Amino acid sequence: MKVQSAEFVISNTEVAKCPTDGLPEYAFIGRSNVGKSSLINMLTGNKKLAKTSGKPGKTQLINHFIINGDWYLVDLPGYGYAKTSKTNRAKWEKFISEYLTTRKTLTNIFVLLDARLEPQKIDLEFMNWCGEKGLPFSMVFTKIDKLSSSALQKNLAQYKKEMLKYWEELPPVFTTSSVSGFGQERILNYIDQINTTLR
Ligand code: GDP
Repeated sequence: MKVQSAEFVISNTEVAKCPTDGLPEYAFIGRSNVGKSSLINMLTGNKKLAKTSGKPGKTQLINHFIINGDWYLVDLPGYGYAKTSKTNRAKWEKFISEYLTTRKTLTNIFVLLDARLEPQKIDLEFMNWCGEKGLPFSMVFTKIDKLSSSALQKNLAQYKKEMLKYWEELPPVFTTSSVSGFGQERILNYIDQINTTLR
């Protein structure tokens, strides 16, 4: 799939205010600073679509972008930012879990993971929570240009091992670099394939 158009639609904290046209949507989520905005910009070929963060944890909104007039890319607020207060975190959990568990058109959640890090508790907990709720998700490793391929393979293997402690099967795994554009085609084709089955 080629991205011909990518436009901002709406930002809000309520599922009720999300678009109602029933188009399939794909959510992107991960810890603050994982490279989510950079990945969204890389995928859509638009350097300014999602704001790359100077201030992690600041964008606490559900952001809808419409791609090719055909599907929504949803930029969700990052989790696990240490300086966020407990009240903020509780608010985050409430509206994000409401969005993730009630949004009927949500088709896939791309969970972003920093390829340089070994498995992080907060990410494993989030993915386990998605699994328990029956929410379809994929693992997307970011910033792979920042490490050697052997270090990448080691971290991927560790993540797989951790996930297989809880689940019989692994979700789809993508490796990406917003600097080189690696992973763009695979992710867009994956989305396209799902969209085709939904038509
Ligand atoms: P967000 O908070 O998850 O939206 O993260 P950002 O997209 O703002 O990225 C956080 C930092 O990581 C920024 O300094 C980016 O330039 C950097 N970054 C993001 N993705 C990549 C990548 O694929 N490769 C490299 N080398 N740096 C990246």
